[in-house]
Amino acid sequence: MNRPMLLTDPHSRPAEACLEALDVCPSGLTDAEAAARLARHGPNRLPEARTRGPVRRFLAQFNNVLIHVLLVASVVTAALQHWVDTGVILAVVLANAVIGFIQEGKAESAMAAIRGMLAPHAAVLRNGRRVSIDGAHLVPGDIVLLEAGDKAPADLRLIEARGLAAQEAILTGESVPVEKATYPVAADAPLGDRRSMLWSGTLVTQGAARGVVTATGAATEIGRIGGLLAGVEQLTTPLVAQMDHFARWLSFLILLVAALLLLWGYFVGHMVFVDLFMTVVAIAVAAIPEGMPAVMTITLAIGVQAMARRNAIVRRLPAIESIGSVSVICTDKTGTLTRNEMVVVAAETPQGAFRIAGEGYAPSGEITPPGDLTRLARAAALCNDAALHDRSGVWSAEGDPMEGALLAFAGKAASGPAATRLDAIPFDSRHRFMAVLTEGSGGRMIHVKGAPERVLSMCRDADHAHWHDRAEAMARRGLRVLALAEKPEDSAHIDAAVLEGGLSFLGLVGLIDPPRPEAVAAVAECRAAGIRVKMITGDHAGTAAAIAAQIGLENPHRVLTGADLDRLDEAQLALEVQGVDVFARTSPEDKLRLVTALQANGLSVAMTGDGVNDAPALKRADAGIAMGLKGSEAAKEAADLVLADDNFATLAAAVREGRTVYDNLKKVISWTLPTNAGEALVVITALVAGMALPMSAVQILWINLITGITLGLALAFEPTERGTMARPPRPREAPILSGELVWHVVLVAVLFLAAVFGMFTYALDKGYALPLAQTIALNTLVVLEICHLFFIRNIHGTSLTWAAVRGTKVVWIVVIAITLAQFAVTYVPFLQRILGTEAVPLADGLLVVAVGAIFLAIVEIEKQIRLGLRRTKGETKG
Ligand code: ATP
Repeated sequence: MNRPMLLTDPHSRPAEACLEALDVCPSGLTDAEAAARLARHGPNRLPEARTRGPVRRFLAQFNNVLIHVLLVASVVTAALQHWVDTGVILAVVLANAVIGFIQEGKAESAMAAIRGMLAPHAAVLRNGRRVSIDGAHLVPGDIVLLEAGDKAPADLRLIEARGLAAQEAILTGESVPVEKATYPVAADAPLGDRRSMLWSGTLVTQGAARGVVTATGAATEIGRIGGLLAGVEQLTTPLVAQMDHFARWLSFLILLVAALLLLWGYFVGHMVFVDLFMTVVAIAVAAIPEGMPAVMTITLAIGVQAMARRNAIVRRLPAIESIGSVSVICTDKTGTLTRNEMVVVAAETPQGAFRIAGEGYAPSGEITPPGDLTRLARAAALCNDAALHDRSGVWSAEGDPMEGALLAFAGKAASGPAATRLDAIPFDSRHRFMAVLTEGSGGRMIHVKGAPERVLSMCRDADHAHWHDRAEAMARRGLRVLALAEKPEDSAHIDAAVLEGGLSFLGLVGLIDPPRPEAVAAVAECRAAGIRVKMITGDHAGTAAAIAAQIGLENPHRVLTGADLDRLDEAQLALEVQGVDVFARTSPEDKLRLVTALQANGLSVAMTGDGVNDAPALKRADAGIAMGLKGSEAAKEAADLVLADDNFATLAAAVREGRTVYDNLKKVISWTLPTNAGEALVVITALVAGMALPMSAVQILWINLITGITLGLALAFEPTERGTMARPPRPREAPILSGELVWHVVLVAVLFLAAVFGMFTYALDKGYALPLAQTIALNTLVVLEICHLFFIRNIHGTSLTWAAVRGTKVVWIVVIAITLAQFAVTYVPFLQRILGTEAVPLADGLLVVAVGAIFLAIVEIEKQIRLGLRRTKGETKG
């Protein structure tokens, strides 16, 4: 679809020549031209990675120990001409494969949908205005604006570069960032030396740039080498991988036991080989938790989807487990706890203090008392990368909302005519200011805006103590405070050194950024869930403390600043960090130290971040979380989870979902293992005791066919259990195969054994023929499994409430389906012949149901005792 590049060797030509060759002016393409080019060159997308076709995926389902055993068994039974057995075994094999296939497809499409949600955007100039567009819509000739943390969305010839460096490891393997500039290089320079180019998919690590797109999609360098086609990620987490491993070893163990039983039965018990063989195969099928890994995978896929519905996008699957176990959340302030919809409400200059009226980004509003704020407003307008758009009276900001608010303020205060920008020092959270050099009617001028203490340190003329106090007072009101300054300049470049001590102070502006109401509720929810919320912000200590109090953090009044942190060594920090909830004027390095210090206390940490320098802290955290809207690509790449709406409430929802998924995985395990153990135990006991089997081999296969893959699967769809966010987080290293689970397996297996044997002997005692007694035993087992399912649905609460009985749609669909199936095999003559069943009298049927109810009562009482004991233990500890 993509034509060859319009331009050969753009790196060796001057930037202007490239613009000319690509037929674009520095103000960008028009919409019409961009649309025409898009039609010609196709979307800026790399060809999709090839996934396995449906046939190969289906065949892969047969690659499994249990299936192999069953296939061998079907050959043996066919050789013995036991056609019914062969048929049933093959039906089991086929059903397993089909269900595995469907589940895997569902899981894969869940992941694919998530990848689509992370599609990158690009800031471009179109019709002379800065707009953000879907990266796929970029065309050759587009002028793209980039800053630190962005990922180049296409191959670009640089036309402006300030302090630019890019990490090109995906292309060159070189992980040290390469410095970039606009001058042409030799035509035959190797890729890594083409400094005037920025390659698609590489990360801007510092600086800012403007470049013209020279190639898109498959025509880019990365597209040509077929890179970035990250294979389909395996849908797994540590827990699921661990259980998969466990299930595999368990299968081998069971096969070994089965082989021993076969030998024992034949040589010691002198049983008929055919019957014995079928029974042993049935035991193996009953005992092996064949459906469990697949059901766990589906549980994860459903969890991933549920999180995505709540705007939390899982980038690395293990995060879905770790997010549920976090005990501390370290969050940014701006945009996460607050709305990031800023408005300048106050200004203060040496002439006095002013109130600014007006809402949103509309550049109109009264200034009281009236005064001349032109110089302040001019600095605010020029030292600015944002743009305001007026769409029929509705004003919106493109770019940083704070800068949008400054533009609106400049409009209200009449900032004077525009000027051409000559040079700039972009904002960086480390140096906390931004400077621009412009040329206008009044000559060349440098304007600086930034954190008050930083800007003041560059001013020679101001009364520092006075302005610090004023900034402090604004901050205490919860306002975000910026200082503005200026300096006439002769040169065409900004030398950072001339700023120090050379600026004239203009004044302060104060912006409100109200807390998100939903964040207040979410913080309360986290606190109830035993999770401590800490704010780590680059903002002023006073502002941070005011917002922390509004948001409801536990201890909003004790603030540690970046400078305080510098004074603490690691041991002191680890001690201090627990009780402090507000960290202000921090740098990204501080974030990394804080995560490490919290982890040193055994806490499991979630950390949010957006900037390019936040990546190490996000990687280090147990759950690294990036902001989807204002986050840089670098942060997203380092994160496990991305919040599509930047909202803290989404983070709390992700914790809730994470806990739910973990619970559901645990429920799948807690239901499957005892069920399998119980089934196997019943048959093995009968076999070893030399009794008639309570269920025939074919019947056991049937149970596994219908229940193993349906009832267990219902648990993958379980909603969040009540009180999930009222429980403390689970310990970081809590093993899933805990003593409690082992006890549950033993208890349920023994109860199954007692109930099934009890009913079987009852039927025989009553003088029923063996097939009828077996049918009763079979139905008893199925009823027990259903009751066990209802029990497992509420492992933390009680199963004896109306809500618990009402269940979910999935549970009832499954239960009704199985009940109908059981009625069919019990009463339909054709099926009776295949499965060797007989119609069960009504009274006995009711007895079977009663046995199920008794079972449920026993396990429920046991659970309540256990939960009660745990509570008292917790209380005495507390
Ligand atoms: P958070 O970490 O919660 O997002 P933040 O946005 O305040 O907080 P930074 O972006 O690191 O953190 O900003 C730190 C400080 O730098 C701000 O308080 C402000 O004083 C100043 N600042 C922020 N953005 C700009 C900018 N675009 N130009 C100049 N100064 C800025």
